[in-house]
Formats: sequence, structure tokens, C-alpha cells
Amino acid sequence: MKNRFTCLLALCASVSFAARPNIVFIFTDDHSSQAISAYGSKINQTPNMDRIAREGMLFRNCFVSNAICGPSRAVIQTGKYSHLNGFLTNGNTFDGSQQTFPKLLQKAGYQTAVVGKWHLKSTPTGFDYSEVLLGQGPYYNPPMKKNGVGTKHVGYTTDIITDLALNWLEKERDPDKPFMLMYQHKAPHRNWQPGPKHLNKYDDVTIPEPATLFYDYSGLGSAAKQQTMTIEHHLSANDLKLRPPGNLTPEQLATWNKAYEPKNKAFKEANLQGKDLIKWKYQRYIKDYIRCVDSVDENIGRILQYLDKQGLAENTVVIYSSDQGWFLGENGWFDKRWIYDVSLKMPLLVRWPGVVKPGTESSDFVSNVDFAQTFLDMAGAEQPADMQGRSIVPLLKGRTPKDWRQSFYYQYYEYPGAHSVRRHYGVRAKDHTLVYYYGIDEWEFFDNRKDPQQLTSVFDNPEYAPIIRKLQEEIEALRVELKVPEDARPLKRKPRQKKPRTPKKKAA
Ligand code: CA
Repeated sequence: MKNRFTCLLALCASVSFAARPNIVFIFTDDHSSQAISAYGSKINQTPNMDRIAREGMLFRNCFVSNAICGPSRAVIQTGKYSHLNGFLTNGNTFDGSQQTFPKLLQKAGYQTAVVGKWHLKSTPTGFDYSEVLLGQGPYYNPPMKKNGVGTKHVGYTTDIITDLALNWLEKERDPDKPFMLMYQHKAPHRNWQPGPKHLNKYDDVTIPEPATLFYDYSGLGSAAKQQTMTIEHHLSANDLKLRPPGNLTPEQLATWNKAYEPKNKAFKEANLQGKDLIKWKYQRYIKDYIRCVDSVDENIGRILQYLDKQGLAENTVVIYSSDQGWFLGENGWFDKRWIYDVSLKMPLLVRWPGVVKPGTESSDFVSNVDFAQTFLDMAGAEQPADMQGRSIVPLLKGRTPKDWRQSFYYQYYEYPGAHSVRRHYGVRAKDHTLVYYYGIDEWEFFDNRKDPQQLTSVFDNPEYAPIIRKLQEEIEALRVELKVPEDARPLKRKPRQKKPRTPKKKAA
């Protein structure tokens, strides 16, 4: 009898063990949903990402809690906002000794791996296998670290990361355990270097411009006027891979005149000014961006095909997301950082055969703070009480809990910093966005129904006073609930202390 009971227990254990799904988390850097055809892109096609959407669920309102690369990744690792996981800005170093979801998955019997972009400075912890780029990593010939030891690769980074992921799936993982693989690309991060295959794609076409490419921020506060992320002024020759024409000094123009016949195209481009120059820069920028996305999409296709061929697809959850939203010329900008929807919204596609109804959508408010608990829930593991998100598994099953969140707290910290976007916090509610720039004591408020592009703050319009008051209270309540401390870091950088120069020794 005892033996039979033990056998039954073992059987139960093995059945539940087998039923636990594998998780493939596909993550890119700076890929916004405006460049995914499943989200209605007007500028490119992404057939493999679309396949995940078609066979799974597409989320319309997945928000990032702090719209910048490293912090978004730290939130995903921990299931906690930046102020609790300690990674507020890209200058920070992730404390890998803290609780993370990969560690908890390991404890639950999962095999864990991360391949590609890590970007948290410290060595990955909680992974049975890691092979990651150093920092941002280059687009070509990336040096990497495999389980902490340096490796070198030759080729295009997006292809190499996929090769490594496939190699781990095929040869290195333990097929008797469920696995969680973080397959994370550098692309399409700045400076958008396409792969060899796509270098000339789009050469002969003009990519549509966003309606707000020439917006002058007249409806926004002083923060929007102080930023340094415009296509017009802040894309470098390095970003554009060509010296931007226009605004030439008389000497430079004389050189152009000498080099080219006055009537040829190059001469005309050399004199581009104003809107024509912005249009030219936008085309240079956007084409390289979508070329990088093309390569990511094709490589995702390789992963999906592998899962199909190996019979893994049925019991594997495939997630596609990117670390924040991104401006593709909206407001005349590139980059992210803002609570504005373009930067706030992450793409999120989830395919889970047998659980997620194919071709479905959700508009519920979900966030990168939810990812850790969602993965733990998928694996049947316990969700620690100190994590600050919520598993989205019920949403994936098509059942939104009645008490699901109706508003979302956001905070951005990296000022002073790249692109000079002021520190701010705020709340995204269904129909409104309220934001407070606490370094300069300014508010903005948007009616997202009338102004979905958030071009005009109506904070001073008395009609909105009641809802603004209500949302100010909501912010305070969320700050208490999420344990957000006052941001006491100085607003100015300390001046660097000059080191006394030591005289160089003369060569003997
Ligand atoms: Ca990013």
C-alpha cells in the first residue's frame, strides 16, 4: 500500500512537472509598437512578431514604470519599482544579491538562461547559463561574457545572439527540466546599425512621417522645451552615418561647391535647411531603425521555427516585449524617458498555446512590474509578497479580475543626464495623464480622449480642476502604497574634481 502511494505521489509530481510550461522571453531594446505591424505600423512589416500576436494576445496598455533601458530591466528582474530595487538611472549598478525571479524559478526546478543584452553592469545572477554583451555592446563582432568568462564573436550581433540562444536550446540545456530563456537583443538601440542583409533595404522608398514631426511644443511646459532629443538638432553624424547636410559654414559650402556641379543632387542636399533638413534626417534615422527591426524579426522567426520543429511550441510560452516605448519622430523626437504614452507604452505579445485564445487583445493596464510575478505564476511558483506587481495570467486566460488596477504610477529619475529630460512622476489613468516635474515645480495634465497624442496640457483649464484634484490624491495614495520616498538626490551634478597632473616620464 505504501509503495503504491509513493508511486502515485511520484506520478503526480511528474505530471505536474511536465505540465509546467517553458518560457521564452524575447526582449529588444527601444522597439516601440509604432514599428510593429500587429500594432498597426505605418512604416514597416514584422511578420514573425505578428505571428506571436496572431497566435496569442496583444496588450494595448503595457506601461513601463521608468522609461529607460537599465531601470526597466532591473524592474523585470525584481518585480519592484526602481526606488526599491536600487536601479534608478543607467548610471547605477544592479545589486545581483537581491531576490530576482530567475533565482526563484531555479528554486522551483526551472533551468534559467539569459543570452544577449543584459545592461545591468553586475554579473547576471540566478542563471544556469548566461552569455551577455558587455554594457551596450556593439552591432558587429561583439565581445561577450559566457558565465562570467570573456568570449569573442564575429558577425552581426542580432544573428549571433540568436545563434547562441538556439545553441543553448539544442545542445546545452537539460531537456528533462522546464526552462526559462531570456533572449535579449541590443537592437534596435541607437545608433541603429543594420545587418549586412538589410543595408540597402528601403533605399528607394520614402517612409511616412509622423503627423507631429514638426511640433513646436507650444502646448507643453518648460520640460519639453528643455529636452535635447530632437531629430533636428541632436542626431549626430554617427547616428546618421553621414555628415548631415545643411547649415554649412561658408567654408564648408565652398568645399561642396568645388566638389559638385551646382545642379546635381548632392549640391542641393548640402543646402538643405529647416523642415527639409529635418525630413532628410528623419529618413536617414527611420530607415536604419526599421532595418535593425527587420533583422530582429527574421531572427525571431528562426526561434519560432525551432520551437515548432522540436515539438516545443505547444508547451512553451513565447513573450515579445521591449524595454520601453520610443519616439519615432513624434514631437520631432527620438529617445524615450517621458510619461507620455509614446515612451510609456511597451509592446507586449504573449503566445501560450491552450491557455491564451489566439488573436485576442487586452486593454487592461499591465506593466513591466508585473512580469516577474507573471513568470512565477506560469511556473506554478510562489509569488513573494514584497513584489509590487501582479500576475497577468488571469488576463491571459481572458478573465480580468474586478479589482484590477485602473491607474499606474510612473517615475523618471535620470536628470541631469542624457537628453536633459527633467525628473518627473505622475499617474496614467484611463482617460487622463497627470505629471509633476518635481525639480522645477511644474505640472502637465492631458485629456487622453481628446488629445491622444498628448500635445496640449490642459492643467490650467478650470473645467478639469476636479479630476486633477482627484488624480493628485491618487498619486499620493500610490506613492504611499508603493513606498516611494522623496527623491533627495541633488539636482545638479557635483563638479568634477580635477586631479593634479603627474608629469609624464620621459622615455629613456
Ligand atoms: Ca531601451
